[in-house]
Amino acid sequence: MSAELRPRRCVVIGAGVLGVCVAARLAEAGTEVTLLERDRPGRATTRSSFAWLNANDKTPQAYHDLNYAGMQAWAGLSAALGGAAWYRPSGNLEWAVSATGRALLAARLRRLTGWGYPARLISARQAAELEPSLRLPRSAPDVAWFPGEGYLVTESMVSQLTDVAARHGATVLTGAPGHVVGLDPVPGQMKGEWGGGRGAEVGRGRCEPPPGK
Ligand SMILES: Cc1cc2nc3c(=O)[nH]c(=O)nc-3n(C[C@H](O)[C@H](O)[C@H](O)COP(=O)(O)OP(=O)(O)OC[C@H]3O[C@@H](n4cnc5c(N)ncnc54)[C@H](O)[C@@H]3O)c2cc1C
Repeated sequence: MSAELRPRRCVVIGAGVLGVCVAARLAEAGTEVTLLERDRPGRATTRSSFAWLNANDKTPQAYHDLNYAGMQAWAGLSAALGGAAWYRPSGNLEWAVSATGRALLAARLRRLTGWGYPARLISARQAAELEPSLRLPRSAPDVAWFPGEGYLVTESMVSQLTDVAARHGATVLTGAPGHVVGLDPVPGQMKGEWGGGRGAEVGRGRCEPPPGK
């Protein structure tokens, strides 16, 4: 984004995975950020997520590509933060027992490898070497191995990204002070009101598009 279009002040509502990523990126880029969270960061949907990093069964290809780019971005972000422990590139094993299930899995592997996604068949013995506690059914033949997949430990990820935002100057308000109680969209603007609890200061934010837009 050009400096001319870059907003100087931004209010981010909600400190789930989306909010903390946006807040951290904006704050790093020099924007004055206020991150508002009515509870504690990462305690809503993000907390109950399996947080599986994959583009395994996503169609059409544009959706697959977006998910794959997201996987690579998480790897890059974790590396940029010194190899964050919340990033777990464990890979993923999958197998099918029924004839129909095997045919579907084989078709998915063909589609994914055609799209350049790391995926291949390995033997049951190789799968057992990767995951010694795995007990495959006798009828399971080859196993699909997706080495680029993994998962996130969401609590520590949210916590670190909140810290990154704060370290770059973001104001993080949680609980009643961070509770947005009103949004008032009017043409070309958005007004918000937060921190309306008794005794708490009422904050007001206002966003406008850049001049001429
Ligand atoms: C069971 C389950 C499994 C999942 N598994 C996966 C998976 O494997 N892989 C994957 O990629 N995705 C998965 N997802 C989806 C993923 O978890 C969500 O897409 C993601 O967590 C959404 O993040 P968010 O930041 O948008 O929302 P949230 O985490 O819900 O964050 C929104 C935040 O906004 C705050 N908030 C709400 N209203 C206000 C207000 N008025 N004022 C201030 N703050 C407010 C909330 O308190 C909350 O903290 C799964 C989801 C579930 C439920």
